[in-house]
Amino acid sequence: MSSSPILRIESVAKTFGPITAVDSISLDIRENEFFALLGPSGCGKTTLLRMLAGFETPNAGRILLDGKDISPLPPEKRPLNLMFQSYALFPHMTVRQNLSYGLEMERLNKAEIRRRVDETLAMTDLTQFSERKPEQLSGGQKQRVALARALVKRPKVLLLDEPLGALDKKLREKMQLELKRMQHEAGITFIIVTHDQEEALVMADRMAILKDGRLLQVGAPEDVYERPADRFVANFIGVMNFIEGKVGSDGVFEADGLRLAIPDARPGVATLAVRPENMAVEASGNLPVAGVIADVAYHGLDRVLHVKTAAAETPLQVRVPASGAGSWQIGATLSLGIDPAKCRLFQ
Ligand code: ATP
Repeated sequence: MSSSPILRIESVAKTFGPITAVDSISLDIRENEFFALLGPSGCGKTTLLRMLAGFETPNAGRILLDGKDISPLPPEKRPLNLMFQSYALFPHMTVRQNLSYGLEMERLNKAEIRRRVDETLAMTDLTQFSERKPEQLSGGQKQRVALARALVKRPKVLLLDEPLGALDKKLREKMQLELKRMQHEAGITFIIVTHDQEEALVMADRMAILKDGRLLQVGAPEDVYERPADRFVANFIGVMNFIEGKVGSDGVFEADGLRLAIPDARPGVATLAVRPENMAVEASGNLPVAGVIADVAYHGLDRVLHVKTAAAETPLQVRVPASGAGSWQIGATLSLGIDPAKCRLFQ
């Protein structure tokens, strides 16, 4: 993958009356990258995408594609293509006609249109459906047609707004992998908007987390999951346990019944964050934090124990293998261990 930015977003802002939807965001997106814009409802991700596509005008900042400012260009003149959430397929046209339409508008010759449409139908596994109309297709197939129609125009960057939002969970998971494969095959930069953190973790090469129009963190899924920049990101991505406490002058984090030496900790109030899979658990009392099981949730591959402790206000979630259910009954006592190398401290 090349690391040169294909798209540079420079201090871009957008307000709607008193509402700041996007608050001075700067971001570089690399060529051939699968990039996810992730955040809770209302964080500004759709507005940012619409500014890239040219459907909204920024109040400030610049958007550069391949080093050129595209801000003055209308949507149809931008080498970016936006795939809408609703798919917006032409209902009276076949799949092939839906794909050909955009190329006919570009006045390409018939042979070239046929070649490009055939190639894109094959890439999106739609060849056998080419003569069907949208109403004769399943939800996942319609989604693929919408994607194919965007890909056939060979944009430099494809913008996708919640592309899998209309699909059920099982199909969505299948399509996540398919989207990734198609992006790879097409060699096109994808920028996808999603509010689903799991989807972003699965698909993205890198992701940006937004809140209240601001950019909180940009990084590879592993970076963001393992080293969240702040408490909000830590809570938003995956499951995180928080333990409120304070760091003493000796650099040791303390909460009720818990003492943990964390490298680089500063004295003062602090929140310790630890993932459910990063805690040791024993049915005996050998580990430092004593607890009682308040709840057990079975997830197939593993179980999540909800453990009441003196250290944390809400029960701590601890992931254990699904086998060995006998030891994990509601009301049973156990002990927990936390490895300081696997925690984050927010101060
Ligand atoms: P969702 O996941 O719910 O779609 P989002 O992160 O995509 O949310 P945006 O649609 O970008 O959020 O909206 C950001 C903020 O800007 C919200 O507070 C929204 O109400 C506001 N907003 C968006 N478009 C307009 C508009 N045309 N007029 C006024 N306010 C708007």
